[in-house]
Amino acid sequence: MQQTPNKLEVRHSPSTADLGDNHIEFLHRLKAPTWITVDGKDRSRTRAIVTLLHGNEPSGLKAVHTILRERLVPATNLIIVVAAVNTALHPPILSHRFLPWEEDFNRCFKEPCNTSQRQLAAEIESRLTDAAPEAIVDTHNTSAHSEPFAVAVNDHLSTQQISQMFSHKLVVIDQHLGTLIEKTSDVSPVVTVEFGGLMDPSADQLAFESLVSFVTKQHLFNTEPAPLHILHHPIRLEIDESSEIHYSSSVQDDADLTIVNTIDQLNFQTVKAGTNIGWLGRTGLDGMRAVNAQGDNLFHEFFHDVSGFLTTKQQLTIFMATTDPYIARKDCLLYFTPTAP
Ligand SMILES: [Zn+2]
Repeated sequence: MQQTPNKLEVRHSPSTADLGDNHIEFLHRLKAPTWITVDGKDRSRTRAIVTLLHGNEPSGLKAVHTILRERLVPATNLIIVVAAVNTALHPPILSHRFLPWEEDFNRCFKEPCNTSQRQLAAEIESRLTDAAPEAIVDTHNTSAHSEPFAVAVNDHLSTQQISQMFSHKLVVIDQHLGTLIEKTSDVSPVVTVEFGGLMDPSADQLAFESLVSFVTKQHLFNTEPAPLHILHHPIRLEIDESSEIHYSSSVQDDADLTIVNTIDQLNFQTVKAGTNIGWLGRTGLDGMRAVNAQGDNLFHEFFHDVSGFLTTKQQLTIFMATTDPYIARKDCLLYFTPTAP
């Protein structure tokens, strides 16, 4: 079985021939996780874009391909990390978040470095630490429909100034998950940007326009902070990995849980107490958890069983709700924060 390589390839200012005509050709030419550098107008400063930590999330990849191909001269030196190239190339192309026999790569930025993926993550972290960029942006797409939003581990002014270039929504996570942003937040202001759904053309357009601005703007930190909608202390709604979960508008008999397949329409919406978000199955509420950063299970504060529905008990703001049962089981169903009615 093919493993993610444990080392980065390194390229400086790739030629047009190295880049191919489109992002698919670009992947075929890169072949492996790659660290790309481009000289900027001001060579005393550096910015970094990390893309494709998840192999099926192409908006950032398309944007950096166009930026490189159009030979845009960045305002500062630029680092582009195209991470899980091997995962993206595993057929069918751009279809795997991570390889089924490996870990989610954006959970590999932690010790111990006992797998090739974690060694690769450590090299990315160590090179970013050495380069000390003035800002790092990590580009993603959501697995379901969502407005764009940024994710960070703090809401410092510099984090807000980077976030507002991409979205007016900032989620501040305090969970220890093993993501790039947790590992690099001491090095530089760093945000993950979820540009929107992975097949959504407006996500591609936002990624291109905002990343061009990120790359070419002379100064990132002299702007007035814009009013941001900041969501603190998100709670993860999780289900046992062995559960049978479906997304549908009707219930299949063998499901432990059926979530309404339009749940993603609730992303960033205020959801009132008493809202049914799905149907409970054989196992009822067993196997479900609502976990905060301290690891406390707050499930029964926020959800209950009302006539067989999974129903909210308090007013919540829901975000990052997926409609992909695999991600729901492997990661979580959604994040939420309580909101005052
Ligand atoms: Zn992602």
